[in-house]
This record gives sequence, C-alpha cells and structure tokens, in this order.
Amino acid sequence: MKELVSFASTRGFVYQGSEIYGGLANAWDYGPIGSQLKENLKNIWIKNFVQERPDMTLLDAAILMNSQTWITSGHVGGFSDPLMDCKACKQRLRADKLIEEYMEKSGDTEVPAEWAGESTPAANLTAYIAKKEIKCPYCGKVDFSDIKKFNLMFRTFQGVTEDSSATVYLRPETAQGIFVNFANIVRTSRKKVPFGVAQVGKAFRNEITPGNFIFRTREFEQMEIEFFCEPESVAPGKHLELHAKWKSDCMDFLTNTIGLRPELLRFRDHGADELSFYSAATTDIEFRFPFGWGELWGIADRTDYDLNAHMKESKQDLSYFDPFTNTKYVPYVIEPSLGLNRLFLVTLLNAYTQVETEEGSRIIMKFKPSIAPIKVAILPLVKKLGAEAMEIYKFLSPHFMCEYDEAGAIGKRYYRMDEIGVPFSICIDSENYNQGQLTVRDRDTGIQEIVKIENLVEYFRDKGC
Ligand code: ATP
Repeated sequence: MKELVSFASTRGFVYQGSEIYGGLANAWDYGPIGSQLKENLKNIWIKNFVQERPDMTLLDAAILMNSQTWITSGHVGGFSDPLMDCKACKQRLRADKLIEEYMEKSGDTEVPAEWAGESTPAANLTAYIAKKEIKCPYCGKVDFSDIKKFNLMFRTFQGVTEDSSATVYLRPETAQGIFVNFANIVRTSRKKVPFGVAQVGKAFRNEITPGNFIFRTREFEQMEIEFFCEPESVAPGKHLELHAKWKSDCMDFLTNTIGLRPELLRFRDHGADELSFYSAATTDIEFRFPFGWGELWGIADRTDYDLNAHMKESKQDLSYFDPFTNTKYVPYVIEPSLGLNRLFLVTLLNAYTQVETEEGSRIIMKFKPSIAPIKVAILPLVKKLGAEAMEIYKFLSPHFMCEYDEAGAIGKRYYRMDEIGVPFSICIDSENYNQGQLTVRDRDTGIQEIVKIENLVEYFRDKGC
C-alpha cells in the first residue's frame, strides 16, 4: 500500500491534500491523471446503470438538507461509532472493527451478543473483547478505555446565526436525497415500479479511524441506487429476487465492465444477527486489499423502512399508485451503495503490474481502454516532427483524451505512458507520416502496428477506447 501511495503521488493520480501546508490528515487531492480516472469510473457507472437501463433514472440532490431528514433517517440519534482508546499506547480504535479484524484473522466465528457491527450494544462489545483477550493492534496490550458513542456527522450552521435552529449537517450519505424526492420523481419521470434512482455525490463522515490511503476518508463520493419494487404484501419474495439480481449485476459490473480480477472479489452475506432490524437481506461485495478483505459495495434490501419513516414524519404521501393493478402501496427498496473512491482504489490496485526488464523493474498500469484516464499518447519520434504530431493531436482529441509528449528518448516516453496506463501510443516518424500512416504501440504487448491515419478513430474505437 505504501508503494502504491507513493506511486500515485509521483504519477499524478492522488496527492496528499494541502501538501504545501504540511497536509491535512486524511485529505487527498486527485491529480491530472487521477481526476480523469475518477471521472471515467463515474461516467461508466452512470452509463451502465442509468443510460443502458430503461428502468433507471438519475438525481442530483443538494448536500445540505433540512435537518429533519437526518433526524427521521436515524442519523442524528444513531449514526455513531463505538470509540475506544488503548490506555497503553493512546491509540484511538473502533471496537467493532477491532472485533471484525480479530474474527477475520483468527477464523473465530463466534460473534458478540446482539452483534450488529457498529450498532452492537457497547457492553456486548466490551464483554467480547475481554473474553477473547483481543490485543491492541498497535502495541499488543489489552488495556482499553470504556466505549463511547461518537456521532459521525459534520455539523455546521446555515446563515448568520449560530444557534440550533440554524444547524445543518453535511450529508453522511446520498441515499436520503433520493427518498425525500421519491414523490417528485414518480410525478415527473413517468417511471413505473419497479424502477430505480441513481445518484453520485459527495458524502462526509467524521470517521474515528480513517486511513488506508483513500479507503476510509472523511470526505468521499458515493454512487448510490435506490431500486423501488413491490412490497412483500403485493408480490411475495419479489424483493428478494431483485436483491439477488442486483448482487449479480454489481459483480458483473466490477469484473466485466471495470475489469477487476474475480479472485480479488467475494460476496459476504450478512447473517441474521448482523442485519439491521428493517433489512430483509444485505450483502457486501468485498475486495482483497493489501491489508485484508474490505467492503467495496453494500447491497441492502431496506424494505419500506425509509419511505415509511419520511412519510410518517413529513405527513406527505410517499406511497405509490400502481396503474396496472390499481393498488396503492409503499414500495420496498434495494440499495446498492458503492464508494467511488474505493472503486478508484481497487481499480489502481487491480491495474498495478510490476514487470522485470533488462533495465530493471517497471510499473505498467493495466487499465481497460474504456476506463484508462488517457487513451492515446501522441509522440513525435524527433522534436522537429512536432507540427505533424500536433495535427494528429487535433485530429484525435475531439474523440479521445490524448496526451502529447515530445521530450526525451522514445523508449522512455513509452514507459512513462505505460506508468499512467495509456493503452496506445502513436509514434510519428516522417517516413510513415508521408505515406499517410503511423505506428501504434500496444501498452500490454509492446506490439507495434501500422495504421492508416484516416482509420485511427475507428481503430481506437474498436479497441474499446
Ligand atoms: P464501513 O463498514 O467500511 O464503515 P459502511 O458499511 O459504513 O462502511 P455504507 O454506509 O454502507 O458503508 O456506505 C456505502 C459505501 O460507501 C461503502 O461500501 C464504501 O464503498 C463507501 N464508504 C463508506 N464510508 C466511506 C469512507 N469513510 N470513505 C470512503 N468510502 C466510504
């Protein structure tokens, strides 16, 4: 991971945030290559789950919402993590994560009483840690403080007064923006149940133990879907079928569309003791990070819990009238919730490939052409072919993100393009150029092909750029 963090910084993927002032803990800035990669991942997710599906639509709700939203959703009262200090080394820890790590490493399948991750009663977490004599991962001692509940929402004030009536929260998830707009969307989009709403946007959580690079940060982006369907009372079992279908659609997106290696992914179904009281089924898709298996995508069957809660509190009718069956009901919802930054991280880890050459070891970022931040490098063999190369840049850049580089030996320039994952490099030499053709080098095989200039756009399209 350390190697990747340093590589990501030197190649313009991700920098330490506010670096010139000594940085800000856990804040990261996406550089020229990284921001393009993140944009591509977001757009491909929208293309896959919105553009190519007639049963999906998009929303972009505000980050700041009426505070009642967060009281109704349970975040003001209950969105907190069990915080604990190691008295010996003063390290701050999340009790639930300490237990999860212990279970993962030891293979112990016994869970604390009333186990529900971060929502497990504090006394049960304490009892479990004591019983299993779980050690502090930093100093190896077993000497912890009492567990305190710590609310994860960032709070600020809207307007000039700083009293409680002006309190607003930075949203800790994008999902609630979809629920509060459910009636608006039904009214204006003409979508019929089953249908889903997708949203991409920033979320903020004042995490106790952020870390592992961009895996857990306090500011991050979510790509969430709420897929509304018939409730159990109207179509028994239908929501569970849809949950299973979403599981496979999400896994298919990761392996086929993004190109993640299947052996780095697994499903983890939540057991009955871990499920929220309103959830009918929840599954995480986990990725094998260098620090162990970790959640990438949560797919939850949240029943009608959220719409019912908002309906009760707002006194607005959030039920749905089904024109085909003439019935009125509150839909159930399947929620596939993915962190864009975590998807970015796994895409980097999956692509990072070390190759040994006679000149030493090199890194190639093997992104699929469709997600590569830059698709085509345009490299004049010698500087004096700059004008011709610029013509090619102008010809291709309306179609593909291109990079122009004329400085240094051609071999070194190829390697630089490999490191930022450019799938194809074009070398401009006068002999081929004068015949209306150019050499295209494939990043992964190093094989060079002569392609007619007039066919270049089609050639790269066919290669998936
Ligand atoms: P965790 O158990 O890792 O804290 P969570 O179960 O709280 O995650 P959800 O609330 O289900 O996460 O959020 C959905 C997705 O948002 C997660 O699967 C993850 O990809 C992403 N996510 C959540 N918290 C963070 C964070 N602090 N930093 C980056 N991504 C996050």
